[in-house]
Amino acid sequence: MSLPFTPTYSSLNTFIGCERAYQAFYVTKEAIKQDTPATLFGSLIHALAEEYAKNSHLSTMPSSDYDDPERHFQHIKQIIDHYKPKSAQVYIEHELNVSKTGQVLDWSDPSGLIRGRNDFICINDQGVAVLIDWKTGKFKEQYFDPKQLQWNALLIFARFPEVQTLYFCYVYTGEGLQKKGKIERKDITALNEQILHWHSRLEYAYQADSWIPKRSGLCKNHCDVLNCRFNGRRQLRL
Ligand code: SF4
Repeated sequence: MSLPFTPTYSSLNTFIGCERAYQAFYVTKEAIKQDTPATLFGSLIHALAEEYAKNSHLSTMPSSDYDDPERHFQHIKQIIDHYKPKSAQVYIEHELNVSKTGQVLDWSDPSGLIRGRNDFICINDQGVAVLIDWKTGKFKEQYFDPKQLQWNALLIFARFPEVQTLYFCYVYTGEGLQKKGKIERKDITALNEQILHWHSRLEYAYQADSWIPKRSGLCKNHCDVLNCRFNGRRQLRL
């Protein structure tokens, strides 16, 4: 069975974390992911990064009760100022969708393997790409998972055949901390298989209409599926 839309890293990772949560957010839509002060601040910082990467200046520096945007922005500026001038190509908030056979598809094509919007991509004239993701939360070793950029790297290798090596970097904008990795074109078969595995598990779940709850540390306080029987916030409301 084909999927109703091409998954993103975020939707597929929701499915990997808990099928029941995926069902609630993406199938029945009985739950929506709620904005929090942290997610709103994250959107503000991403908008600043996008504006600066495109225009090399900011029209204004907003204020926030949540955290200091200027401090986050200074770390972003350093990175953009480092990479942008020496890149032959720069892409900001770039949307890519690829098929199971590696064809580039339109963003809205539902038949893709995976799609994603990447914060900042730059490619030099030696076929080396750098893929950056701005993280406005604090780095926590126990939750660090490079899968998001590894999977999005597949999109870049498919779209830019000249890219042979890709460096990915999560930038924790509050502290300026960078967590990096490297992927060569020869590594994409293994990545493709990993995504295919989860994509076909998702297809099976749609076909069987089977969505198994998977309890985790999120259930007690951090899951927005309030009508799930394992949701701790639901129990508080009863
Ligand atoms: S409360 Fe837990 S089991 Fe229920 S949907 Fe959320 S993450 Fe899944």
